[in-house]
Amino acid sequence: MTDISYRLAQKRNIITELPGPRSVELAARRRAAVSAGVGASTPIYTADADGGVIVDVDGNSLIDLGSGIAVTSVGASHPAVVAAVAEQAARFTHTCFMVTGYEGYVELAERLNALTPGDHEKRTAFFNSGSEAVENAVKVARLATGRNAVVAFDHAYHGRTNMTMALTAKAAPYKTAFGPFAPEVYRMPASYPYRDGLSGEAAAKAAIRKIETQIGAASVAAVIIEPVQGEGGFIVPAPGFLAALSDWCTANGVVFIADEVQSGFARTGAWFAVDHEGVVPDIITTAKGIAGGMPLAAITGRADLLDAVHPGGLGGTYGGNPVACAAALAAIDAMAELDLAGRARAIEALALPKLRALAGTGVIGDVRGRGAMLAVEIVVPGGDEPDAALTKAIAAEAFARGVVVLTCGSYGNVIRLLPPLVISDDLLGEGIDILADVICDLTS
Ligand SMILES: *Cc1c(COP(=O)(O)O)cnc(C)c1O
Repeated sequence: MTDISYRLAQKRNIITELPGPRSVELAARRRAAVSAGVGASTPIYTADADGGVIVDVDGNSLIDLGSGIAVTSVGASHPAVVAAVAEQAARFTHTCFMVTGYEGYVELAERLNALTPGDHEKRTAFFNSGSEAVENAVKVARLATGRNAVVAFDHAYHGRTNMTMALTAKAAPYKTAFGPFAPEVYRMPASYPYRDGLSGEAAAKAAIRKIETQIGAASVAAVIIEPVQGEGGFIVPAPGFLAALSDWCTANGVVFIADEVQSGFARTGAWFAVDHEGVVPDIITTAKGIAGGMPLAAITGRADLLDAVHPGGLGGTYGGNPVACAAALAAIDAMAELDLAGRARAIEALALPKLRALAGTGVIGDVRGRGAMLAVEIVVPGGDEPDAALTKAIAAEAFARGVVVLTCGSYGNVIRLLPPLVISDDLLGEGIDILADVICDLTS
């Protein structure tokens, strides 16, 4: 495996209270200037970030187990990404691809067409956010099929725009008071092995029966699903669930959309999470990890679907911005060179035993995940009652000790680990050990 070199010392080093005085100052300015609707998982402000560390404005160095929500897989300042951004920005920052094109957009589309599952003819279009990619995948599916209904699942998260709020399962905070939502979205039971105990086949059968009785296959344009559900709790469906759904879609002329905005780009130990199941989606949506931190999103799918759209039907002023495309090409090269999929599997091998060893605390309902997309579901001892308060306390105490961890889950009771894939083994081990200590300390 290629050695990774770092610009910043890969060390946890807490030199002030957290948050420190400069972060406190910025928080006050934020309150006066920034909408209260924009949340904050931690109270600190960033000065620098590299590899597995975030250095705040007070000089504290924290271990990053969140990657800015699965974005900085190659690190937040990978040298090749930084160089590609600088080089492209010095030539032109924007033309709008729909006005005068540029090679980076075309080259990145070629790369995604080759990298994504399936060797069929594919096309790609670029957007600015995961939500926008999902919106456009639905547009393509509806146009290509001439049908309206879209099937989404329990625990799904697809974004914060109107269509994607409708597709998202969890009301608070994503949907509360923001309706009315886009129509023709139908929610079906997902596969949640820890809570439903069903095999993949049985869970798929239940969902398909419900689709057929409540919507009718002939009305369904698309089935959209996250191959590993993200915000909903890092839920890995039982083996066979995705394949059964995908087969049903193929048999019924329904577009199968894999939303890999969070799970894509080596995060789960393969280029894409569907690769673990041998599933080939009709359309795949990507974003987060794609461009080393630059905002970029894509839909990649069957040429006949994406080329069914009339010219001008897809696009956007900034979609596939040249700087973001240059960053993505550099980030994807880095993922391949550093074998970050292999790194993700190594992270799983290092972290899972440490997390499983916490069973004795009684609060670990489930330990699950794939690659560097790992989670611990926190429950009240003796059953499976979610303990959101303890989960929140664990994340807060880990932060106080200098480790950034995020929570998620429909019931708010999941600690999720999304370290940068370039984090060193030492730093990752230290971060997980601290998290484990916190869980022990808060439950003893
Ligand atoms: C984050 C996420 C989105 C939304 O992406 P944004 O860039 O925040 O709009 C969509 N789908 C999944 C699976 C995500 O994790």
